[in-house]
Amino acid sequence: MRYFPVFADLAQADVLVVGGGEQAAQKVRLLRKTSAHITVLAEDVTQELRALGQQGVISILPRAFHARDVDGHRLVYAATGDTFGDCIVSRAAKARGIPVNVVDTPALSTFITPAMVDRHPITVAIGTEGTAPVLAREIKTLIERLLPANLGTLARRAQDLRKTVAKAVTAPRARRRVWERLLQGPFRRAVLRGAEDAARRILATELRGADRSAPGRVTLIGCGPGDPDLLTLKAVQRLQEADVLVVDRLVHARVLDYARRDAERIFVGKTPRGPATSQAEINRILIGEAQAGKAVARLKGGDPLIFGRAAEEMAACQTAGIEVEIVPGVTAAHACAARIGLPLTLRERARQLAIVTGASAAGEPDLNWPALAAPGGAVAIYMGVGNAPLLRRDLLAAGAAAATPVVIVENGTLQGERAIATTLADLTDAVAQHAVVAPAVIFVGLDWAEAGLCRPRSVIVHRRGRRPVTELSLERPAANAEAQT
Ligand code: SAH
Repeated sequence: MRYFPVFADLAQADVLVVGGGEQAAQKVRLLRKTSAHITVLAEDVTQELRALGQQGVISILPRAFHARDVDGHRLVYAATGDTFGDCIVSRAAKARGIPVNVVDTPALSTFITPAMVDRHPITVAIGTEGTAPVLAREIKTLIERLLPANLGTLARRAQDLRKTVAKAVTAPRARRRVWERLLQGPFRRAVLRGAEDAARRILATELRGADRSAPGRVTLIGCGPGDPDLLTLKAVQRLQEADVLVVDRLVHARVLDYARRDAERIFVGKTPRGPATSQAEINRILIGEAQAGKAVARLKGGDPLIFGRAAEEMAACQTAGIEVEIVPGVTAAHACAARIGLPLTLRERARQLAIVTGASAAGEPDLNWPALAAPGGAVAIYMGVGNAPLLRRDLLAAGAAAATPVVIVENGTLQGERAIATTLADLTDAVAQHAVVAPAVIFVGLDWAEAGLCRPRSVIVHRRGRRPVTELSLERPAANAEAQT
């Protein structure tokens, strides 16, 4: 990040705009949202600026710029329409340590003006560091649509109620809960539709008894395979409510950006064959934090109910009398299949999908091989990379065809995502040759051709004894094939 967002207090502050053309007028229009004393310094000004000057809304100095003109101003804008003139203003401001913005010229500026969504006193500022103003406008439009026009009324009401709520609810955590309910629930809706009587009634009910320490709770949140865009709206809501986050290794760091900044973070990742917090210890943490009255978010990769040891955590909480809520997440198989457009079931052809683990506490996976090898079904194998040779051996021994299609998706939705298409016979070879590592899902019995689809170009095709190539490189000279793999 090069430009760090801050909000400048311009109440009654002196602000200088050098230049009197349309660009200067635009800045003046923005600045008039504040109570700053605006001075426009220019020999010639637009009709709009002149009118504002005549009304006494701004001051106009109709003369040439001198370096000392910037003295005493909190911000300086340069919009002279002339690069040389802008340079002189910029230099004068910089020499005195006064923040300066030269319109459309970041190189001469010490700050830039963001795109804004104004719901006073709530202001959303959007910046792209000057890279893509069109994107900034698009984001502005999205946010404009998202925020009710009179959201500011709610914020002002919150300001008015601060003392009342603080007096009625003294425990800080209970107080935050009350604010969450007031600003997100029926009170908010009543205020936004202007139903004052209803708002007063709801407020009284919310404050009654709110000070009794609320019991803690645990939410098992499915955080998806990595890409934060795959979080559900409910997951985001729960993340924002959480006092403490208990985080698994497969949860992507960017998911944590959706939590409150002051929420405590406890990392309990389990690395395959690496250091781990024991399940018993995790259970103890969840119960301890919830018993302290906190909203505990237990963040899990994918869906919490699939290979997530959710049952043990739920049972421990139930035994301790703690309420548990589950927020489903996008499981790895679904996300990985979506990335490569691979249907997981096919009408008349793939009628069932088994989700199995390729690892087991004893080491060797002990699955119902004949059932998995039977035609007409497909298998998504989780945690199967380490045991790929055993999975291959046992599926073939149970009667699966050597030519059964296999697709491996490694790091699905994450940086370094790879997809490799091969056959059951060549599975071990493919894993070894491409040095596939966890996390990866191995799909057995699913194929694009079978579904009447083209295989995506990004998928690497692996066949034993041949140089592995991507679809793209198949169409190119051999030298390129090397570069692709
Ligand atoms: N609860 C998780 C699964 C946890 S078990 C879920 O529903 O997805 C961990 C296994 O999930 C990994 O070994 C791998 O098989 C799979 N996995 C998790 N994230 C993945 C990803 N981004 N890409 C591919 N596989 C992933």
